Amino acid sequence: MSSPLVDARRQLADAVKLLGLDRGTFDLLATPRRELTVCIPLRRDDGSVEIITGHRVQHNYSRGPAKGGLRYSPQVDLDEVRALAMWMTWKCALLDVPYGGAKGGVAIDPRHYSAAELERVTRRYTSEISPLIGPAHDIPAPDIGTDEQTMAWMMDTYSVGRGHTVLGVVTGKPISLGGSLGRATATSRGVVHVALEALRHLDLDPTRSSAAVQGFGKVGRGASRFLGDAGVTVRAVSDQYGGVQHADGLDVAALEAHVDATGSVVGFAGGEPIENDDLLELDVDLLVPAAVEGVIHSGNADRVRAQLVVEGANGPTTADADAVLAQRGVTVVPDILANAGGVIVSYFEWVQANQAYWWTEGEVEERLAARMTTAWEHVLEYARRADLTLRAAATSLAVKRVAQAHVQRGLYP
Ligand code: NAD
Repeated sequence: MSSPLVDARRQLADAVKLLGLDRGTFDLLATPRRELTVCIPLRRDDGSVEIITGHRVQHNYSRGPAKGGLRYSPQVDLDEVRALAMWMTWKCALLDVPYGGAKGGVAIDPRHYSAAELERVTRRYTSEISPLIGPAHDIPAPDIGTDEQTMAWMMDTYSVGRGHTVLGVVTGKPISLGGSLGRATATSRGVVHVALEALRHLDLDPTRSSAAVQGFGKVGRGASRFLGDAGVTVRAVSDQYGGVQHADGLDVAALEAHVDATGSVVGFAGGEPIENDDLLELDVDLLVPAAVEGVIHSGNADRVRAQLVVEGANGPTTADADAVLAQRGVTVVPDILANAGGVIVSYFEWVQANQAYWWTEGEVEERLAARMTTAWEHVLEYARRADLTLRAAATSLAVKRVAQAHVQRGLYP
């Protein structure tokens, strides 16, 4: 059966085999180093008490502090958080960011709670996991259902516990609280940097190419905008409520105004409705899944018509679907490369906070672009040389770096 954790372990097993590593190394890298599950008693605005479950998983910290987002979603469970934490380890190693991988999850649908309730949940969760986190230990960031306000509450809660302000404990903070310029758009900018590289690699002119983007949140919205800015025709976008399409391309700025006013892409007057499933099978050059895991699976992979899939989301393609796409010649730029812009600028934010010295937006953007392009070139070169898919090449490069850190550090005792 396919699940994010099963798929993540399968990808690791493939990389371990390719690199000729032993069974013990696989077991070591397949197993999270630390896991904490906490109970969050929430007093609701009406006075009733509800018990919510939260997790923090540190998959690996051999190359530096653990790093990874915090997700608020009713579907969150420990195995999903384990998979996402493992992918963070590979992402940081691949981009040569000096971190290991972690992830957090709280099983809550934030749309059904007031801001005051979300603040109480966030503060209690932060307090419960505070023995694990810290600028040198584990640094959370936003993910699905969380944002810069969540990070501000986390930073404040952690700081109150320490008795002084600790800006480096989380990234993705508001600019006024030590956030980095360019962080809010970093993931989507990174997605578009590699998407444009990949289109050119496939001899496709971006200004004559079309795209469909699933998810219109922090990643998908910016990706749609920056693809449009680069001249790509954004033919369809969607969110969890449904989608919109226009054969000649959507007016992304007008769509953003509609989303700001209504909370969804649904009902946008400048397009026709489209179901999420149909969007994935649209006749476009580029497909950017930027919502949740497992949307491209064995049941629809043979109907994906895009030549290029750039994974804005983590784990949007199951391992079975990956094999089908590879066999059909569809190029897939894997999540650990495609959506790494967020962790790159999170790293920049942490560096700036630790030095108490902030960079200009131009410096951030330039360094982000350079890192994304370098990683793309390394992965492409390795894939060509070893005749691998981009995912197998990216995972192997990352696993090799983490395994090397383990060998060099040795086992204690
Ligand atoms: P978000 O909460 O800001 O947005 C999620 C979007 O996906 C929303 O538009 C939501 O309506 C939509 N969505 C949710 N379920 C859906 C479904 N079943 N079908 C279609 N659309 C659905 O979250 P985000 O930060 O944009 O994260 C999206 C993905 O990108 C996740 O996989 C996340 O792990 C990954 N990611 C995010 C970042 C980051 O910096 N935010 C970095 C790397 C990877």
